Amino acid sequence: MTINLLNKSAPNSKSDPEFDSEEQLTMSLFPESQNTSNETIRPQFWSRFALSELNHSEWEALCDGCGSCCLIKYIDEDEHGDVDEELVEYTDVTCQLMDCATGYCQHYDTRQEHVPDCIQLTMENLPQMMWLPSHCAYKRLYKGQDLPSWHLLLTRNAVVTQQQMRAANIGVAGRCVSEVGMSDEEMEERVVNWVNP
Ligand code: SF4
Repeated sequence: MTINLLNKSAPNSKSDPEFDSEEQLTMSLFPESQNTSNETIRPQFWSRFALSELNHSEWEALCDGCGSCCLIKYIDEDEHGDVDEELVEYTDVTCQLMDCATGYCQHYDTRQEHVPDCIQLTMENLPQMMWLPSHCAYKRLYKGQDLPSWHLLLTRNAVVTQQQMRAANIGVAGRCVSEVGMSDEEMEERVVNWVNP
């Protein structure tokens, strides 16, 4: 899982049909190198393998960087810890580490030193995270759905993906505020309807 948004100044926005390296393509989305693994990203891995069979690089490549999971949200859990998706409410208030202009986590690599309860999304805890937005690739694949049509793994073009995400009203960049200094009462007034669980 990554929590960064798409990099508006991503260095690579190739639409060259010969550009078919999943690994290069994924790296073009993010401003910092987050994939330090040498694992190979297998072609069409998202449709050929179960989530539990993905290697680290493939797992990371599923994140579209929308940043929605970094928004503060109200979650209703039953006694078993299961989330009622219908009742999840997102605010536009983000974790203190978010750069709200760019949508990038400002300390991604060391985020848990700053925010110890920052959740690392894994195959093990994914079933308890159905509060994730409906477009999130992890949630979609877990539910047996396809990747969203604008996902970089499908478009293979970062600019196209960015444009289509904006058109689909997805992503927090430029429209979120930091939790710093925010009271609980103020937070409750900031529920938004542009994130759908
Ligand atoms: S909601 Fe899903 S796709 Fe969006 S940043 Fe979080 S993990 Fe990545």
